[in-house]
Amino acid sequence: MGSETEGEAFVERRVVLVTGSTRGIGRAVAMRLAASGHAVVMHGHDEERAAKAAAEVAAETGGATDSVHGDVADPARVNTMMRRIYQRHGRLDALVVNAGVHAAGLLGLTSRDTIGRLFEVNAVGATHTLQAALRLLRRGSEPAVVLVSSIMGRAGGAGQTVYSATKAAVLGLTLAAAKELGPHGIRVNAVAPGYIRTDMLATLGDDERLATIAATPLGRLGEPDDVARAVAFLLSPEAAFITGQVLGVDGGLVQ
Ligand code: NAD
Repeated sequence: MGSETEGEAFVERRVVLVTGSTRGIGRAVAMRLAASGHAVVMHGHDEERAAKAAAEVAAETGGATDSVHGDVADPARVNTMMRRIYQRHGRLDALVVNAGVHAAGLLGLTSRDTIGRLFEVNAVGATHTLQAALRLLRRGSEPAVVLVSSIMGRAGGAGQTVYSATKAAVLGLTLAAAKELGPHGIRVNAVAPGYIRTDMLATLGDDERLATIAATPLGRLGEPDDVARAVAFLLSPEAAFITGQVLGVDGGLVQ
């Protein structure tokens, strides 16, 4: 399980939980934070995959990692994850609420199941995660949270109405939590990625891909590490007076 046995590393380093870090953006965030000296608790749906990802990131970065697992839509599982982190590390100095799912489709053709699942994971899951982490964050040093929203949550996207709504909920959560938790010394910000090259973009057709690149002033799709760098900044002391902000990581794309 990563470098969990390196208990001392977790005592000395800032401890961060990155949800949904077995692949894509979350994994890039975990890589960057582990490489810069954080002790990273990685997370995925599945126990084996989360442990494997943690071991790989530790090997690739030389950093300290650990893993927890479970469906973020299940509040009992999220509580169990936080209990594990408390038992192993006693605190969280940072939290990245990244786990999310995507589904495209016209509003009139979107099933109730799809609507339910998108909200359960992206909006309710993000809320549970932040809520359940509060006690650990209060025990942390200069604690900071970054939630991963989307350009869709800011601008909306035709054919992505429900996903957009769930990501707008993440922005509301960020803005309000920043106000509520600021007096407790906890900073809360969000990133709003544009089109980032991960498994989530696999359904994007060639025409849509080219149209997106053409509409992006910086002329390319984003890479997971583009988002990771923004997250690392918002968690860092460089952002000590920044809270309640939404940082677009979209190459200037205006939808
Ligand atoms: P991805 O599908 O590659 O990875 C998603 C990660 O979340 C995986 O580790 C997966 O196991 C985990 N996950 C999903 N549902 C979960 C659940 N119910 N419980 C536990 N873990 C769960 O996706 P990605 O592109 O890396 O997306 C990461 C985040 O970034 C998501 O919140 C997504 O909405 C957001 N985002 C992505 C893009 C993009 O273009 N890729 C753009 C904007 C925002």
